[in-house]
Amino acid sequence: MLTAPIGLLGGTFDPIHIGHLRPAIEVRDAIGLAEVRLIPNHIPPHRANPFCSSEQRLAMVRLAAAENRHFVVDERELLRDKPSYTIDTLVELRQELPETPLCFLMGMDSLLGLPSWHRWQELLGYAHLVVSVRPGWQPDYPAEVAQLLARHHTTDASALHRCLAGHVWLADNQPIDLSATRLRALLDAGQDARYLLPESVAHYIDQQGLYRTMCR
Ligand code: ATP
Repeated sequence: MLTAPIGLLGGTFDPIHIGHLRPAIEVRDAIGLAEVRLIPNHIPPHRANPFCSSEQRLAMVRLAAAENRHFVVDERELLRDKPSYTIDTLVELRQELPETPLCFLMGMDSLLGLPSWHRWQELLGYAHLVVSVRPGWQPDYPAEVAQLLARHHTTDASALHRCLAGHVWLADNQPIDLSATRLRALLDAGQDARYLLPESVAHYIDQQGLYRTMCR
C-alpha cells in the first residue's frame, strides 16, 4: 500500500517568490499531495552562481515555509559539496521513502530545458514530473520532450497516487508572470516588492540589505 504522494520543488530561490509558492499550493490541492518539500540548491548546475549565499537563500525559504504547514524545507542539496543534480536527490529520496510516490514540480521553462539535465532520462524512474504553467513559456516541445510526453503524459491525477513514479502531469494553475531575476531587478531599483513574495521574506531582504547595488 503506497502512502500519499509528496511534492518536491527544487530551485535556486534567489529569492523565493509567489511564482514558486502559488503554483505549488495549487498543485498540492489538485493532486492531494501530503506535503511539498522546498529543496534549495547549493551549486546550481544550469546557471551562474546565485547573488545571495546558500545560507541567505535557505533563510528565506525557511521563512516562506513557516507560513504554510504543507511546506517542508529539505536542506540536503545544501549539505552536498558538489553540483545539485536532481537525479542524486531523487535517488536518495527514493531510498528513504520506498512507499511514497514522488512528484517533482517544475515550471514549463524547466520541462522545455529538461534534455540538458544530468541523466534526465532516468528522472521518471524515480519520480513523476508535475509541470506548472509559466507565462512566456509555451508548450512548444523539443523532440526529446515530445517523445517523453507521448510515453508518460497522463491527465489523471489519481495515477500519481497509484504508482511511485513514471508519469508526467501538466497543471492548470493560475499563471504567475514573475521570475527571481525580475524581482532582483525591481529590488535593485529600490522599488516596492510587496505582494510578490511573502512579507517575512521581504522583511528579511530589507533587513539584510540584499539585492541592492548588484554589481553584475
Ligand atoms: P531566476 O529568474 O533567478 O532564474 P526563477 O524565478 O526562474 O529564478 P528558480 O529558483 O530558478 O526561479 O525556479 C525553481 C523552479 O520554480 C523551476 O522549476 C521554475 O520553472 C519554477 N518557477 C519559477 N518561477 C515560476 C513561475 N512564475 N511560474 C511557474 N513556475 C515557476
